[in-house]
Amino acid sequence: MRPLFIISLLIVIGIIAYRNLPPEWDPAVPLDLRAEPGLMTRVKVSRLAREPEACFAAFAASGMLLTRVPDRPSDVSCGIENAVLLPSSVRVTPRGPTVTCRVAAAWALFERHSLQPAARQHLGTEVVGVRHLGTYSCRNVNSAAAGRRSQHATANAIDIAALLLGDGREVRLVRDWHGDDAEAAFLRAIRDGACRWFRAVLSPDYNAAHADHFHFDMGPSTVCR
Ligand SMILES: [Zn+2]
Repeated sequence: MRPLFIISLLIVIGIIAYRNLPPEWDPAVPLDLRAEPGLMTRVKVSRLAREPEACFAAFAASGMLLTRVPDRPSDVSCGIENAVLLPSSVRVTPRGPTVTCRVAAAWALFERHSLQPAARQHLGTEVVGVRHLGTYSCRNVNSAAAGRRSQHATANAIDIAALLLGDGREVRLVRDWHGDDAEAAFLRAIRDGACRWFRAVLSPDYNAAHADHFHFDMGPSTVCR
């Protein structure tokens, strides 16, 4: 067979295959945040992290209501764009923190596909609430006087201090991270699970500034520690 014929044949096969992709494989179809993660999920998550409209489309396609937060421009690199009140299936304390849509999407995936499975596996219960230490704060990394802006300066991050369980227990990072009991295993599973969805995940293993919380963000740097 001639090379031109083979190339044409491959193109035709490619077009037919693309047109018959199941929705979860089709990169143009919005991500269903509730569906079991598949091979294309990561690709779609990185797309919605770049394209706010793809992010809002994912929530709409998933039947999940969002409360938009108006854009707030800033001339000191602390602006808020494409933000929402964090949607959660569990109680969030303090209530209704503002986050970027991409943090909200990563959170929805994390909660459903990592947090609750980890609670069931390690503690035999569900998470019913989370306690956070904030999402938006106009400051630099580690609150340093100089240096680059924190992802918190654009509401592109969330700090988690504790998880409340269905049986009334509270798992706190500052107390339960170190050890070899089920609570410590649960917290490590949360950290590892969060790394599937967020771009940066910092735990007490990272440094002393994170001894009492997880930091999750959707900024440009990737780290999982
Ligand atoms: Zn943080």
